[in-house]
Amino acid sequence: MSGQKTYDVAVIGAGVFGAWTAWQLARRGQRVVLIDAYGPAHSRASSGGESRIIRMGYGADEIYTRWSQRSIVQWKELFAARTQEKLFQETGVLWLSGGDQAHFRQTLATLTRCGVPFEKMEVKALEKRFPQIGLDGIAAGLLEPHSGVLLARRAVAAVVEDAVRQGAEYRNAQALRPTGQGRVHHIRTNHGENIAAGQFVFACGPWLGKIFPDILGSRIFTSRQEVFFFGVPAGDARFAPPALPTFLFQGDEIYGMPDLETRGLKIALDRHGERTDPDTQSRIVSASATEEIRHYVARRFPALRDAPIVETRVCQYENTSNGDFLIDRNPEMENVWFAGGGSGHGFKHGPAVGEYIAGQLLDGAPAEARFSLDTKATTQNRAVY
Ligand SMILES: Cc1cc2nc3c(=O)[nH]c(=O)nc-3n(C[C@H](O)[C@H](O)[C@H](O)COP(=O)(O)OP(=O)(O)OC[C@H]3O[C@@H](n4cnc5c(N)ncnc54)[C@H](O)[C@@H]3O)c2cc1C
Repeated sequence: MSGQKTYDVAVIGAGVFGAWTAWQLARRGQRVVLIDAYGPAHSRASSGGESRIIRMGYGADEIYTRWSQRSIVQWKELFAARTQEKLFQETGVLWLSGGDQAHFRQTLATLTRCGVPFEKMEVKALEKRFPQIGLDGIAAGLLEPHSGVLLARRAVAAVVEDAVRQGAEYRNAQALRPTGQGRVHHIRTNHGENIAAGQFVFACGPWLGKIFPDILGSRIFTSRQEVFFFGVPAGDARFAPPALPTFLFQGDEIYGMPDLETRGLKIALDRHGERTDPDTQSRIVSASATEEIRHYVARRFPALRDAPIVETRVCQYENTSNGDFLIDRNPEMENVWFAGGGSGHGFKHGPAVGEYIAGQLLDGAPAEARFSLDTKATTQNRAVY
């Protein structure tokens, strides 16, 4: 192996977690290589697609509120410095709550404690401001006026580009599963190349269970998620910002976005779909989900009752047992780390995830117990929303 370049850190996976990890490490002067099998935020990645919500509300889970706060600042700084595109869209995020308001009340308390601006709205105020929404069963609303949407695929590409500008190297290759125990000196790619590094971060999202089947095969639950875009009536501004914000109807397990970049109203079920394989699953939406979402749209957005579905996407969440991230060392390989388990809410936190991993690798910073492998069970019991 003499003469071969040795990196400080090899990051495997250029989704939002790996991209920001490489970025934060490069910013701190590390020699970093970032490797992806298919490319940054490609169509099969959990970070693929056009848009992701960035919101501050997380019930009582203050750690994620604070991470969102840290992350939104860094996303905005990066976009301001590096791109002309509006990759963050401040649409506002509207939470609508029904009968069981425990999560809603906890969110109000946490946002207050963390100094996040919000507007609490009674049903009458909601009716007046958002007449395009059907509010049956809704008891209250909460608007985060400064939250919104990250334009996902392009945002990750911008992070990778900027990591490279700071000295990171990017390679398109598939990393093979590292073997052995103790210290890993290099990994191999499917091109037969060896990549030597002091530390290895596997930020492989829904692929983590495939690469480390013994440890993670039963701890990462990849679920099929279907997303729909409804075409809005011609010349109708009611479904675009500022008239309609991004929305979360928690009791209905539904979220969506207004008509951004004229793609239509985006809407999806947040309920976990069936277990799936990110390499091979069909990317064509099912008839049953189409039917369910059509009914739902007719109920909550009556003016879109007969609107055409103009686009669809099928993606996958990479869930841990309860929704907390997995960021920990491989117990069998001392310099190999896992970073994943975004669990349907990880995208917004990319900057904070990268920062945390840099702190673990470079500073030996205290580890957050919630992200540890030990806390990841083999049966699902979702607790983070
Ligand atoms: C439909 C949907 C909606 C969502 N909505 C939101 C939202 O509104 N807000 C939010 O914050 N989050 C949301 N999420 C969650 C968020 O998008 C994910 O948690 C996040 O993108 C996960 O990023 P990741 O980097 O861990 O995984 P990925 O983006 O999947 O990246 C993993 C990468 O690893 C690469 N890889 C895997 N194996 C190898 C290998 N052996 N060698 C080389 N490369 C490899 C893959 O090619 C891939 O690019 C949503 C997710 C989905 C699917």
